[in-house]
Amino acid sequence: MPTPLIALPGGPAEPVVVPRRAEARADGRTDLVGLSREALAEALVACGLVPPRQARMRARQLWHWIYGRGATDFSRMTDLARPLRAALSERFVIGRPEVVEARVSTDGTRKWLLRSGGADFETVFIPEPDRGTLCISSQVGCMLNCRFCHTGTMRLVRNLTVGEIVGQVLLARDALGEWPSRPEGRLLTNIVLMGMGEPLYNFENVRDALAIVTDGEGLALSRRRITLSTAGVVPMIARAGAEIGVNLAVSLHAVSKAVRDEIVPLNRKYGIPELLSACAAYPGASNARRVTFEYVMLDGVNDSEAEARELVRLIRHYRVPAKVNLIPFNPWPGSPYTCSPPERIARFSEIIFAAGIAAPVRTPRGRDIMAACGQLKSASERGARTPRGMRGEEAAPAAAGA
Ligand code: SAH
Repeated sequence: MPTPLIALPGGPAEPVVVPRRAEARADGRTDLVGLSREALAEALVACGLVPPRQARMRARQLWHWIYGRGATDFSRMTDLARPLRAALSERFVIGRPEVVEARVSTDGTRKWLLRSGGADFETVFIPEPDRGTLCISSQVGCMLNCRFCHTGTMRLVRNLTVGEIVGQVLLARDALGEWPSRPEGRLLTNIVLMGMGEPLYNFENVRDALAIVTDGEGLALSRRRITLSTAGVVPMIARAGAEIGVNLAVSLHAVSKAVRDEIVPLNRKYGIPELLSACAAYPGASNARRVTFEYVMLDGVNDSEAEARELVRLIRHYRVPAKVNLIPFNPWPGSPYTCSPPERIARFSEIIFAAGIAAPVRTPRGRDIMAACGQLKSASERGARTPRGMRGEEAAPAAAGA
């Protein structure tokens, strides 16, 4: 039985108390969060604390404490000898991103503004009756400049590290009171990489982070409950299937070159035919495991009946086992679009459903705490963000796509 949502510690509107990151790194200690099992074993051997023949066993014990029990304090690790615990705490920390702000929406959605290594990023937890989804960020800022996305108005600051990506999950578990980790009955059941950034432009870190998150002896989330969303970095899609193996969502948002070039500028680099072919070839895609096409509903831009029919035609033509997620556009201050009226969204959805393709309309969540799509980090960035005209100047040239 899932724990009732009412049992959330603190309840709505209470500040969420979570441990802060230890004074890491400034004091020379290394954060163990984000290291693979092998790297963890190597770190123990390298600092002379553990003989090589014991390294795997000790790493396994630590792994269990860090990812199975949520320990942040070596002194709790009762199956390690006391002197070893003390020595570990001199050299290592088990960190968390610093919580700058934690908010709870009237609908139960939680949002954390996090800080690590001088950069701010956000994580959102969305409780639903049958699941709880954590929406995590993969980069600080973004280089894609999608016209309807608020993150697109910020420049890319940097990729998040493996530890910072995993740290978002650990922190949510802390706040939800979900340690020890157990496969049944937990609140945090699903993860979507739909926060800030383009996960396929931070491929290695996202891959390594998800390997930790799905490790059966730790956080133990199933790959089937994780969805990676991409704006369409076509050359990385097959690799994502082979090396990450989670569900794929693609921010399609338009069915013609003219419109998609305008609203998802990456389309000028990787067009709709290549993108849909890559989706059809996505490893593991099947009728039971469909690729999700996200489609933001923009008034008068991409929401006509003809476009709904074209979407159906494309999905059939490229033989993509697909479902469609219709996302009401979430406006932000200065956004150049408005959301399609509800009747038009309903009509768009009906046309797709009538063709036998699921096309639910996503309900906006957490609007009162600015947790909705594309608004992540907005409040903290206001006034400090780079003006639109300057976007991308510091972005790496090859991957920019725009
Ligand atoms: N870069 C990735 C993941 C981050 S965006 C991608 O493009 O998929 C996650 C989802 O939120 C995308 O589908 C994106 O198009 C959508 N989104 C962004 N801003 C939005 C807004 N203002 N209203 C509705 N959806 C938005």
